[in-house]
Amino acid sequence: MATVIVVGAGVNGATAAIELKKRRHKVALVDPGPLPHPLAASTDVSKAVRAAYGADEEYTELAERAIKLWRKWNKEFGLQFYREVGVMFVCQREMKPGDFEYESFKMLENRGHKIERMNSAQVWKRFPAWNPELYRDGVLEWEAGYAESERAVAKLIERAKSLGVELHEGTRFSQLDESDDRVKGIVLDNGQQIAGHLVVIAAGAWTPYLLPFTKNFFRATGQPVFHLKPQQPELFAAERFPVFGADITTTGYYGFPLNRDGVVKIANHGPGREMSPDSPERLVTRQEEQNLREFLSSTFPVLADAPIVYSRVCMYCDTHDGHFWIARDPDREGLIIAAGDSGHGFKFAPVLGEIIADAVEERQNPLLQKFRWRPEVRAGSGTDVARAKENL
Ligand SMILES: Cc1cc2nc3c(=O)[nH]c(=O)nc-3n(C[C@H](O)[C@H](O)[C@H](O)COP(=O)(O)OP(=O)(O)OC[C@H]3O[C@@H](n4cnc5c(N)ncnc54)[C@H](O)[C@@H]3O)c2cc1C
Repeated sequence: MATVIVVGAGVNGATAAIELKKRRHKVALVDPGPLPHPLAASTDVSKAVRAAYGADEEYTELAERAIKLWRKWNKEFGLQFYREVGVMFVCQREMKPGDFEYESFKMLENRGHKIERMNSAQVWKRFPAWNPELYRDGVLEWEAGYAESERAVAKLIERAKSLGVELHEGTRFSQLDESDDRVKGIVLDNGQQIAGHLVVIAAGAWTPYLLPFTKNFFRATGQPVFHLKPQQPELFAAERFPVFGADITTTGYYGFPLNRDGVVKIANHGPGREMSPDSPERLVTRQEEQNLREFLSSTFPVLADAPIVYSRVCMYCDTHDGHFWIARDPDREGLIIAAGDSGHGFKFAPVLGEIIADAVEERQNPLLQKFRWRPEVRAGSGTDVARAKENL
């Protein structure tokens, strides 16, 4: 049994703390709070949950496991965190081999998923908010949807506490406490030390700022998110408006059906703006709003002038190849980093804790090869923007 300090109580930190506690470690979870932290990537009304991952079978398989467990969590917590309303990835031209949508379609078909191809006027009639002239192909994955992420994280933190995780809410990691290339714990910004055998940094977009040497691996980027109040809400109810990605690899636009507050969330992701998560520039720009209006008027004409009732800049922690980074630091014994999920990590919440705990305990897990320590992957390696764009 080890003493493990987990820094950051977003989805990575909370699930890691729970799993490590279940594996009988002594666990401290540190976060400035209030929890769920309003600026955390995990603190949001919704996150897409889907198995469509192009030709990447490992993520598809992992998402399949996660979706089964999301359904189990719904029962276990007695709350509908996960809403299985379907997810569609659609495009303006016929999809072709090599396209994210086509490869997802093939992969899901081969693995026996309940899917539909979106290439007939008949299919589009069921989704009246969409401009029927514009989109002509795509894949609709039925056993997918979205998670109410903030609510889920709040419950996970409660669960962590009830299992005996020592929660240090209101405390801020300042630096590692290390000697002889070995981590002995952490130092808080008030100078207080917390001793531990192992330290897991799960601080999302804060990671490259808390551990500056990781700036070579991670980029913290801001991505705009908008909440709109439709004049015809019935057109955006989940049964007529599943979660979508519209030409996701080229436009970056995606969105969610009407939520419990009567709001439609539409967001854009792509290379983003590099900034610190605490930056005062963390505000949606006029240009981003203008781009949104253009997208809406062509794709959802009925939403073109809908008032924006809320906007935020959500922070990705991007790796250069778009894959997660869940690994032990080879140069600092006792340090594990769990970050870099480039805008697509939340859906894996039910399986993340297990993967992080396996990294902590140095257990065999084939995914840890994909998420390994890989300083050789550099910015501009060619895969970065391409991959990051298809993720949500
Ligand atoms: C716009 C946007 C859209 C997304 N959409 C999707 C989607 O549709 N589907 C999907 O699966 N994923 C999506 N994601 C990705 C998902 O949100 C992230 O993968 C996930 O939330 C990352 O969780 P985390 O725990 O690593 O980071 P965070 O949730 O950001 O948590 C980091 C925590 O670290 C804490 N922290 C900061 N500084 C310190 C300090 N000094 N000491 C201690 N703690 C500290 C913070 O307070 C915070 O609680 C999206 C992300 C964004 C930004």
